[in-house]
Amino acid sequence: MAQNASNLQIDSARLWGAIHETAQFGATPKGGVRRLTLGPEDKQVRDWFRAACEAAGCEVRIDALGTMFGIRRGRDMSRAPIGLGSHLDTQPTGGKYDGILGTLAALEVVRTLNDAGIETETPICIVNWTNEEGSRFQPAMMASAVYAGDFTTDDILARTDAEGISVGQALDSIGYRGAEPVGQLKLGSFVELHIEQGPILEAENKTIGVVDHGQGMIWYNGTITGFASHAGSTPMPLRRDALATLSEIVLTVEKLAKEHGPNAVGTIGEAVIQNPSRNVIAGDLTFTMEFRSSDEETLAKLDRALHPAVAEIAARRKVTVDLKTIWRKEPTHFDANVIKAIETATNALGYSNRRVTSGAGHDACNMNGVMPTAMIFVPCKDGVSHNELEDATQPDCTAGANVLLHTVLSLAGVAQ
Ligand SMILES: [Zn+2]
Repeated sequence: MAQNASNLQIDSARLWGAIHETAQFGATPKGGVRRLTLGPEDKQVRDWFRAACEAAGCEVRIDALGTMFGIRRGRDMSRAPIGLGSHLDTQPTGGKYDGILGTLAALEVVRTLNDAGIETETPICIVNWTNEEGSRFQPAMMASAVYAGDFTTDDILARTDAEGISVGQALDSIGYRGAEPVGQLKLGSFVELHIEQGPILEAENKTIGVVDHGQGMIWYNGTITGFASHAGSTPMPLRRDALATLSEIVLTVEKLAKEHGPNAVGTIGEAVIQNPSRNVIAGDLTFTMEFRSSDEETLAKLDRALHPAVAEIAARRKVTVDLKTIWRKEPTHFDANVIKAIETATNALGYSNRRVTSGAGHDACNMNGVMPTAMIFVPCKDGVSHNELEDATQPDCTAGANVLLHTVLSLAGVAQ
């Protein structure tokens, strides 16, 4: 007989066991995971995951970019399934939780419903997105981006890694190029559980982050052309120093982000001096720059303030600065109804919580463009991720999976 759905809880030990069992696929000596997308360790975890989904009674479908969908039947199969999941690939020195928690918690939700004998009205669908991390193939989140219509499948299949292996070849080499066109399986909505990858929940001692926004961003590539000349014989007033120019630009970016804060960050992450030498004034230099904010207007203001500030520095220092916008993504506003379902589930379960903005990109941000979507965050130790030291507690992971369970139940409905 079916149990009462309202006080259902996931099996914490089983979820924890799955996280640690799959962490062996690509385990690193420091306790992390190295599971580059579409590599041999990714095949191992995919095989494990497919077998687990099938054992849980799901029909597993694989699309042309290798994204895995495990469908649990609902009473009304004419309805588009509620999607829940994340990704199983990691950074080269990644952790055991980033992406993995959300995917294995989705599996745990299905196992829990099976054990309780609960049928949902709408089918539900566990998802493992291909290449969320973007470390072997770019762009990151490529499969969900194709699903959302931002790229074509053929474009992504032709992308190559550092060894010249294409996405298509990599999919074939592990046997995960599915026959189904990307996007053919239409989901009705999507919920992603993830570690926070930031310090706010831990600092405020909150168990659940109800994610209402994702940050937008603008990426720039810059070049500075000054004049390389002798470090000993060129007087200071006559110099056209590219590195000194960059230093002013770095401080300008920092100042602009602070002025527009707290909801704004700005970073220059890469800078390369061409032909560097200790006794030559830097003449040519390239750099990357980005701004992020969850508010469109703030992002636009930062961009508007940046260009004249950089032009003033360049003119005063008699150098040329070329700044190109190479990518712009507007902020994500997650769906009000899915956010409400998450918040209601969290409060009913009695977990402390707050609204948060996702600072990192996620497949859910792509999904939100084409279907109602929101995210659930749980704390991670010291806010660290993309690192072998990434850590999260069993009670927090369990709480996140319980919120996922009850959010999905409220979206899918319990069949009467
Ligand atoms: Zn992730």
